[in-house]
Amino acid sequence: MTDCLFCKIIDGQIPSSKVYEDEFVLAFRDIDPQAPQHIIIIPKEHIKSANDITAENSAVIGKIFEVAAKIAKDLGFADNGFRVVNNCGEDGGQTVSHLHFHLLAGRNLGWPPG
Ligand code: 5GP
Ligand code: ZN
Repeated sequence: MTDCLFCKIIDGQIPSSKVYEDEFVLAFRDIDPQAPQHIIIIPKEHIKSANDITAENSAVIGKIFEVAAKIAKDLGFADNGFRVVNNCGEDGGQTVSHLHFHLLAGRNLGWPPG
């Protein structure tokens, strides 16, 4: 999608610090990290939000969690633990309209979230 920030990152029109990439999924470092490790994991297909996950496109969600587990292992925070967060819509705090998951680690994360 031409007007989408994360589609532009996928296309390379906007640079990013890539952590993982395959045919279906891209992971890159968040520009404004909220934890020592803050990585954004996205499907390469433009899906607007968690509201738009369907039987036709949901396989990539499993891939995204596979990638989260791989990154946690590769970057060495699997044993200490991590959090995967999806913000959906206005009340959920979503600011970029391309489905994405925040992978946060490297400190004790508070609960409940704000
Ligand atoms: P949301 O608030 O929609 O759940 O998350 C969007 C995330 O994208 C935010 O954490 C924000 O810091 C990150 N972000 C926004 N613009 C850019 C960018 O140009 N590059 C990178 N790497 N991250 C971005
Ligand atoms: Zn997009």
